[in-house]
Amino acid sequence: MNLTPKLFKTYASRNINNPRLRKTYRFATHHALENRLRVVAEVPEWEALRERAHRIKEEAIDQLGYYLEKLESKVIANGGKVFWARDGKEASDYILGIARRIRARTVVKSKSMTTEEIGLSHILEENQLEPVETDLGEYIIQLAREWPSHITAPALHKSRGEIGELFAQKLGITYTDVPEELCEVARRILRSKFLSAELGISGVNFALADTGTIVIVENEGNARLSTTMPRVHVAVMGLEKVIPSFVDLPIFLRLLGRSSTGQKQTSYVSLISSPRKPGELDGPEEFHLVLLDNGRTEILKDPKMRESLFCIRCGACLNTCPVYQRVGGHSYGSVYSGPIGAVITPLFQGVEVAKDLPYASSLCGACSNICPVKIDIHHMLLWLRKQIVDTKQTPWQERFAMKLYLAGMKDATVYRMGSRLLRVALKLVGKQSRPLKVPGWTETRDFPPLAEKSFKTLWKETQQRSRRQTTNRHK
Ligand code: SF4
Repeated sequence: MNLTPKLFKTYASRNINNPRLRKTYRFATHHALENRLRVVAEVPEWEALRERAHRIKEEAIDQLGYYLEKLESKVIANGGKVFWARDGKEASDYILGIARRIRARTVVKSKSMTTEEIGLSHILEENQLEPVETDLGEYIIQLAREWPSHITAPALHKSRGEIGELFAQKLGITYTDVPEELCEVARRILRSKFLSAELGISGVNFALADTGTIVIVENEGNARLSTTMPRVHVAVMGLEKVIPSFVDLPIFLRLLGRSSTGQKQTSYVSLISSPRKPGELDGPEEFHLVLLDNGRTEILKDPKMRESLFCIRCGACLNTCPVYQRVGGHSYGSVYSGPIGAVITPLFQGVEVAKDLPYASSLCGACSNICPVKIDIHHMLLWLRKQIVDTKQTPWQERFAMKLYLAGMKDATVYRMGSRLLRVALKLVGKQSRPLKVPGWTETRDFPPLAEKSFKTLWKETQQRSRRQTTNRHK
């Protein structure tokens, strides 16, 4: 499989016809939603928290330049280094430069969607480094040479049997599908990598502008080891991860764990403000913060789309989306899948490359309803569709049908004639007769049976009947 959103329809139809995959997605997403529901119910002020988080993000994104510069000056004052990367290449080159300087060979990475976005692991590999993903899900997909199928659960598409086979094949162990045994194997291998790695790379969940602190939220402890054991720690963050103040953090922590994994709080929350200070026993000698743009400032310019930068990557909109549940994460051909992926992938890669993604939605609004920072996701998808239509990127048949529809709406005679023709056409492809098949439509779904008479005919008949009755009464 290639990582390209251009092949959305091909990937989606293949995944829809894979019952095993659909069952895996259904189970995992429903399980996550049930857990979320339980812990959210314990917070009566949930809606107020969402509203508050939305406002904080709005402030941070509206004043992004100010807060990023404040963050930069605090990080430098605390002893760290800051690098502004315009794109993935600049970020990777900077990290490669560090790796060469310190003669690194092994690089331990904790889970980071931002480094997935720029394909950092592949770049490190191409430059004779050994990148090791240390989050279990990421480790699994690294062994399988795949990309994440979910923002928070990258190996969600894999059954434990498949993971057992993968471990047996790649790590030379005896096959087992017992989760505890598989975890033990991964733990043993990863421990030795933590001990030998010279460079640790992490993502950032939140960056606090007023203290110059980065916050990493996780469950396995691997991020803490990746950021403290190697000599050098590099954190890569999208520009949008900055929030104004330390006091804002608890609001996001309450929302994030509950929305992503259905936990009141994740097992580890690491707050990192500086490299190791004199007298401290552990921690890296150097701390670098890479601020990645990679298209974000372009999104910032678009008033209709800038809200997508509020995303805290919780994954809840994926879990609740009826399309994601059926087509799975890999169909999107991007590391960002689901509703938010369908919004930001076209923004990052261009609408012409990802023009099927905004249509990967029923527009039911479940994504917007569940989003902990109240991003109006489904209206953004609708807006992207408008851009696709305005730039004539829809199929000619659709454009032709819309022109006919418009003509009918403008003129009563055309409307009448059109509706008669439509009734004939629907009889040909409708449920009762269906001698014709419309590819992609009547192959998998039915038109409801047509009423015997149209509303207009019924109305006319009713009027005539009542006129006759009135005439008869007056005779
Ligand atoms: S858009 Fe909202 S629900 Fe979806 S991943 Fe981002 S924060 Fe979570």
